[in-house]
Amino acid sequence: MGKVAEAQIYNKQMQDLIRKLLAELGENPSREGLLDTPKRVEKALTFLTSGYRADIDDVLNGALFTVDYSEMVIVRDIDFYSLCEHHLLPFFGKCHVAYIPSTKVIGLSKIPRVVDVFARRLQVQERLTNQIAETISDKIAPLGVAVVVEATHLCMSMRGVEKQNSFAVTSAMLGAFRDSARTRMEFLELIKLRSSIPTLSEHAAVGMACVGD
Ligand SMILES: [Zn+2]
Repeated sequence: MGKVAEAQIYNKQMQDLIRKLLAELGENPSREGLLDTPKRVEKALTFLTSGYRADIDDVLNGALFTVDYSEMVIVRDIDFYSLCEHHLLPFFGKCHVAYIPSTKVIGLSKIPRVVDVFARRLQVQERLTNQIAETISDKIAPLGVAVVVEATHLCMSMRGVEKQNSFAVTSAMLGAFRDSARTRMEFLELIKLRSSIPTLSEHAAVGMACVGD
C-alpha cells in the first residue's frame, strides 16, 4: 500500500517537472494536445530507464546451465534502444554477443534481456558495451566474451553535429577473444559488421561515440 502511494507521488512529481519543461520550451502545457503529454512522457521515461530497477540475477534466474561444450555461442543482431546520458536523446542499433563456455551457458533468450537491462538506462555506448561483456563474464566465467555494438546517435545526427560520425561501433573483447586473433576473427567474420571496428582493445575508448557538448 505504502509502495503504491509512493510511486504515485513520484509519478506526479515527474509529471509536474515535464509540465514545467514544456512551459520553459515556450509551450502552453494546458493546450489540448499537451494535456496528457506529462503523463505519457513520465510513462515512456520510466520504461526507458527500467534497467535501473532490474536485477540481473532475477533476469538470469533458472537460465544458467552446466554443459560439456566449448564451442563459440553467438547471438547476433540484437536490437537495442538506449538514451545518451549527455543529451537524453536516443541512440540505437544492433548488439552482437559471443562467448566460449567453460562450464556454463546462458539460455539464449536471456542474452537480449541482459542487453535491455543495461540499454534501458542513461548510457554511453562504450559503457553499455563493457557492462554487457563484464556481466556475462561474471555470471558464467566463460573462456572468453566478445560484445560489439553498432549504433546511431540521434544526439549527433539531429543536432547536425558531425553527421558523418553519428554511427559508431564499439567492442569489448575478454579472455580468448582478446588473446587469440584467430578467435576474434572467427567472431567478426560471423557477425559481418556494417563497418569496421576502429580499435580492438579490451575496453573501448571512452567518449568516442557521443560528444559531450
Ligand atoms: Zn549525446
